[in-house]
Amino acid sequence: AKSSGGKGERFFTADMEAQIEARHALEADLRKAVEREEFELHYQPLYDLSQQRICGFEALVRWNHPTRGRVPPLEFIPLAEEVGLVVDIGRWVLRRACRDAVYWPEDIKVAVNVSAIQFTDSDLPGDVAAALEEAGLTAGRLEIEITESVLMENLDEALPILHVLKQRGIRIGMDDFGTGYSSLSYLRRFPFDKIKIDKSFVNGIVEDKEAFAIMRAIILLGDALGMRVTVEGVETAEQMALLRSEACDEIQGYHISPPRPAVEVPYLLSQLPEH
Ligand code: C2E
Ligand code: CA
Ligand code: CA
Ligand code: CA
Repeated sequence: AKSSGGKGERFFTADMEAQIEARHALEADLRKAVEREEFELHYQPLYDLSQQRICGFEALVRWNHPTRGRVPPLEFIPLAEEVGLVVDIGRWVLRRACRDAVYWPEDIKVAVNVSAIQFTDSDLPGDVAAALEEAGLTAGRLEIEITESVLMENLDEALPILHVLKQRGIRIGMDDFGTGYSSLSYLRRFPFDKIKIDKSFVNGIVEDKEAFAIMRAIILLGDALGMRVTVEGVETAEQMALLRSEACDEIQGYHISPPRPAVEVPYLLSQLPEH
């Protein structure tokens, strides 16, 4: 409603105040969550299409709030980034993921999402090295997933850090590929080990010729540049079959499995050797 002073404006203000208050409450809870270790990692399989088996898992953070219940990452990661808490959370995620992965078979990798803030406001190579060492995990089993915004916002800072990680044998994947407008020029500037094609590109590939043509072109691009190509958000057998006939290396999505708690990883590995 348009506010012409008086009543409307007061309602608008009250609504804004309520929103700000709710945010502050969430922020206060998030600070406690770090200390109280209310976070948990769930793992979603990365499925190798030619080997027809799981080749890794992506770690996805979950916040189990004592009264709010499970708060989805998209509701608290952006806030954690704004108030700087994502550095502590990210450090916890790295350590937890490495400690979990060390119990998995040696050819199973673990992928961890890293926020832009971790590149600028913390010693990421130091944190990664500490997490690997503490767990006794080989660098080659860890994959760092970064989104394009990480690079766009801090290219000069991020690139040398990525090179350090890569030199140490850690694999680098570009997440949500295709959603930013400058992806293509960055692909040339940094040799990623992998691109993960955003799930929005999967919609319609079975039904729509144009959607499939776009997906196919992105896969071929990644493949031509010598990168491993993952498609995320694969929800049906038809989508998987279509991608199998392309140069797509691995898929991730509800069709294989949703993210599951760490204790279920051995079960997933035994249930999905062939698919
Ligand atoms: P993302 O890295 O792109 O992760 C994939 C998201 O897609 C996950 O959502 C996953 O549950 C969901 N997904 C998986 N398969 C399917 C499918 O077949 N269909 C659809 N529609 N969705 C699928 P989730 O777990 O809610 O995570 C959301 C985002 O939160 C992640 O997107 C990532 O950007 C961020 N995030 C999660 N964990 C972390 C973390 O530890 N650190 C940081 N910095 N960000 C994280
Ligand atoms: Ca990711
Ligand atoms: Ca993604
Ligand atoms: Ca390839």
